[in-house]
Amino acid sequence: MPTALPVTVTVARALQIGQQAGLPRLDVQLLLLHSIGRPLDQRAWLISHDDALLTQQQLKQFEALLAQRQDGVPIAYLTGQKEFFGLTLQITPATLDPRPDTETLVEWALDVLQSAQQPRVLDLGTGSGAIALAIQSQRPDAQVWAVDQSQDALQVAKANGAQLALPVQWLHGSWFEPVVAAQLAPFDLIVSNPPYIRPDDHHLPQLRHEPLQALVSSQQGLHDIGVIAQAAPAHLKPGGMLLLEHGWDQAQDVATILQRAGFKHIAHRHDLAGHIRCSGGRVS
Ligand code: GLN
Repeated sequence: MPTALPVTVTVARALQIGQQAGLPRLDVQLLLLHSIGRPLDQRAWLISHDDALLTQQQLKQFEALLAQRQDGVPIAYLTGQKEFFGLTLQITPATLDPRPDTETLVEWALDVLQSAQQPRVLDLGTGSGAIALAIQSQRPDAQVWAVDQSQDALQVAKANGAQLALPVQWLHGSWFEPVVAAQLAPFDLIVSNPPYIRPDDHHLPQLRHEPLQALVSSQQGLHDIGVIAQAAPAHLKPGGMLLLEHGWDQAQDVATILQRAGFKHIAHRHDLAGHIRCSGGRVS
């Protein structure tokens, strides 16, 4: 016998089921909107239609999504989208779920670019394209290139670029390899949110649904940051800058890496929790 689901479930009852499953109200609202095929910005609709009935299929989908969320799958993968810097991005498990903290890096990049006209910008390890697209959306005059080693991630990024009609140029390969291959001229700004989590970080199990290659780096999480910092000066114009996101406790190590790579005027930016989350420097 199938389990005895209630025959009819209202929006109000569905929200209750979700919260009884121990999930935050916002998560439950987003999953319910997605299950009933409404845009995710219509949370007010749920309140004004709390007696609307779900179809059996909507209820089944909602319950399946609740179970996946309880298992730690990011909301962005379940709904297929995420807001980042005012843009709606399509997200799949091929890319990292863009974090609000990464908007700090975008804000810093936009500050740096304020004085530059038609700047040339490079985003390394673009994933869903979040950083590159956010910069391009704010600076239509910029020429933005974005690199990723994962073809699957690049498909997501390209689709986002097309959907948002933003002319970011996508390159496949590892860090600067496709930049060298395409013989691209030096940039005003290079940005990156590379993998920076230590292989033994005890938070990793919580992130198990996201691509490991976008999260984890060897040498205490600093290997990829080191590779990027070493190679970046050869791809920057005089006075050009490299801005990196890194772990909450890596600022000192990243500053040392940047100095050794020849960067000057090392500076930092804090994330929403007040940790130094981004560091960068300038080449002379
Ligand atoms: N900020 C992410 C986290 O700590 C990691 C992103 C990354 O490794 N680039 O979950």
